[in-house]
Amino acid sequence: MFNKILIANRGEIALRVIRACREMDIASVAVHSTADSDAMHVRMADEAICIGPAPSSESYLSVPAIISACEISGAEAIHPGYGFLSENASFVQIVEDHDLTFIGPSAAHIRMMGDKITAKETAKKLGIPVVPGSEGGVPDLDTARSVAAGMGYPVIIKATAGGGGRGMKVATSETELEAAFRTARTEAKAAFGNDEVYIEKYLQRPRHIEIQVFGDGKGNAVHLGERDCSLQRRHQKVLEEAPGPSISQRERDHIGGICARAVAEMGYSGAGTIEFLYEDGNFYFIEMNTRLQVEHPVTEAIFGVDLVREQIRVAAGHPLSFTQDDLQINGHAIEVRINAEKLPNFAPCPGQVKTFHAPGGLGVRMDSALYGGYRIPPYYDSLVAKLIVHGRDRPEALARLRRALGELIIDGIDTTVPLFFALLEQEAVRGGDYNIHWLEKFLAEALE
Ligand code: ADP
Repeated sequence: MFNKILIANRGEIALRVIRACREMDIASVAVHSTADSDAMHVRMADEAICIGPAPSSESYLSVPAIISACEISGAEAIHPGYGFLSENASFVQIVEDHDLTFIGPSAAHIRMMGDKITAKETAKKLGIPVVPGSEGGVPDLDTARSVAAGMGYPVIIKATAGGGGRGMKVATSETELEAAFRTARTEAKAAFGNDEVYIEKYLQRPRHIEIQVFGDGKGNAVHLGERDCSLQRRHQKVLEEAPGPSISQRERDHIGGICARAVAEMGYSGAGTIEFLYEDGNFYFIEMNTRLQVEHPVTEAIFGVDLVREQIRVAAGHPLSFTQDDLQINGHAIEVRINAEKLPNFAPCPGQVKTFHAPGGLGVRMDSALYGGYRIPPYYDSLVAKLIVHGRDRPEALARLRRALGELIIDGIDTTVPLFFALLEQEAVRGGDYNIHWLEKFLAEALE
C-alpha cells in the first residue's frame, strides 16, 4: 500500500480523498493555488504545497508543478479527484513516466473514452446499446443534412471532444440545422480546441441513468447499480438519486451485467461511470466517464462501500474487495448540489461565508469544504457543498432531505438551497416522475 498520496484537486473532493487516506493510514499531500492558502483541504491534509497563482491553468492544471510537488513531498501516487486533470491522458502518461502511480485507469482507457466517437464505437463493439446517430464525425453541412434527414428530426449536434454539457446544439428541423451545426462547431473549437462534431437522434423525454462500474485490471469487474441524474439545468446535474425510481431489479441486473462484462473485457482498472439515456425501457449509451463522479456518494450510501478507498486499493495493485454478490442495495439515497449562485438566474456569487452550520443526524452526509469566515475565491467551480441523505426508502430520504436542508446554515452568500425546497414541493419530484427536460421547464414556468 502507498505511504503518501498527493491530491491534485481542491474543495470538497480534495477533502473526500484526504478522509479516505486518513482511514487507511496513508499520509496526504494537498496542493493549492495562492488563492486557496486558507482553504479547508490545505488545513486538513498532512502536508500542503503551493503550486502556483489563482488561475487553474497555472496551478491545478500545471503538470510540472504537480509532478514537482510529488517529488518534493515524496508522494508515491496522485489522486486527481474529478474535473481538472482527472481525464487527461497525457498527464497520466507523464505521471507514469515519473514512476508515480495515477489513481485511476490507464492513459489508453482515458483516451479511448475521452473521444466520444471512439467511445461510442468501443461501446457498440462491447455490446452496449448506443443512441442512433452518425457513423463517426460529420465533416460538413451537406453530410449533416443527409444524416439528419435519414434519422428524422429533432437531432442533437455534439462535440467529439465534449464535456461539461458544452458544445451541444439541438435542431428540430432542417431550417435550424445550419445555424445549430455552425454554432456547435464554433463552441467546440473554443471550448476544446477541436471542432469535430457528430449527430445523434435527440430523445424527447429520456431519463439520464448512469451505471457505476469498477474494475481491477485483473479481469474482475462489478457494477454498483444506477444513479438517476435526470434533474439537470443546461445539461448539468442538480440532484441525483440511487436507485433510479424508474428502474426495476431486472433492468438493473441486465444493463449492469452488460456494463460489468464490458469493463472486464476492456481490462479497465478503477472506478468508471457508463452514462445512458433511458426511454421506454431502452438504454442508449452516451458516454463513459473514466473517473470518480461528483454524485458517487449516493452509490456509497446504498451499497455501504467507500469508492475512494477502493480506487486507492486497486491502484496499489489489490484485487477488488467485493464481488457482485456482495453488493446488495440498502434503502434510497439523494444528493443535492449546493452552488454559490444567486437564483433565479444562477449567477455565480462567490464571497465571504459568515456562518456555516452543517446538518447532521441519522442518514445525513455533508461533503463540503466551507467553514465560517471562509472567503470563496471567484476562480473556480461554484459547487460549495453536497448534501447526501440516506433513508430506508425514497419517501424517508425525501423527508430527511427536507429536514437536513432546514438545519443547514450558509450565511453571507447566495446558494441554490431555495431551489431544493421548491423541488421538494413538486409532485413530479415527490413521485420520481421526471425526465431530463423537466427541470428546465419548471424553471422557465417559475420565472414567468
Ligand atoms: P457532457 O459530456 O458534455 O456532459 P453528455 O453526452 O454526457 O455530455 O450529455 C449530457 C446531457 O445532455 C445528457 O445527460 C442529456 O441531458 C443531454 N443529451 C445528450 N445527448 C442527448 C440526446 N441524444 N438526446 C437528448 N438529450 C441528450
